Amino acid sequence: MRQKVIAGNWKMNGTPRETKALLKALVAASRTPENCAMVVCPPYPVLHLADVILKDSPIKLGAQDMSVHDRGAYTAEVSAEMLLTAGATYVILGHSERRQYHAESDQLVNAKAKKALADGLIPIICVGETLEEREADRTEEVVGSQIGGVLAGFAPDMIARSVIAYEPVWAIGTGKTATPEMAQAVHRFIRNRVADLNQEAAETVPILYGGSVKPDNADGLLSQPDIDGALVGGAALKADDFVAIIDAA
Ligand code: PEP
Repeated sequence: MRQKVIAGNWKMNGTPRETKALLKALVAASRTPENCAMVVCPPYPVLHLADVILKDSPIKLGAQDMSVHDRGAYTAEVSAEMLLTAGATYVILGHSERRQYHAESDQLVNAKAKKALADGLIPIICVGETLEEREADRTEEVVGSQIGGVLAGFAPDMIARSVIAYEPVWAIGTGKTATPEMAQAVHRFIRNRVADLNQEAAETVPILYGGSVKPDNADGLLSQPDIDGALVGGAALKADDFVAIIDAA
């Protein structure tokens, strides 16, 4: 059975005070679901604080990005080693906001994902089409090309150790969400593309849906056969909502 993953992307939210309050509420409310990883991805400055609070809980820690480099003159960048020593085990890569505001390409995301895997982090690799691309009926062309790019040169075990997140850009933070059937169709397409690389890895790799996932739409999305979890933005900032989405998984 494929592992389910519910990951919360806090984006640029989470002062130390807010982090303490949210994580304490999450720890108090969360269960230990079988075969479902619960992951929170706060901003870098509170990662270590989060690790201390989550120490005895089943909730895992992730970061929102990382450098492809080990160390050196790369102002403002954060290495895989720094993330690992702060307690992170997951890292989101290629989020559409990184692609849009920081011009991250599939090639860079691919290099970062290889680095994350080599250093022992689990990459959550994001792909997804814009509204313009969907309306032009180019979803499969765009997502297929992204999958080919971000997984280029991956051995089967590298694919199996990764997590893929399908996040239609038009659904992120907009309140618009893909219907379960729309999301399932793209997830199936992604799994078939991964199967072209390796059948067994395609059966193993969790593919998460992201884009305005809330407690009231989580059930429908998470009951689809190829949707193995969710990457959650806004609703991850409310303990009750995040726990309700975990319950749906
Ligand atoms: C995200 O940031 O990855 C995301 C899916 O955000 P939201 O749930 O707010 O749409």
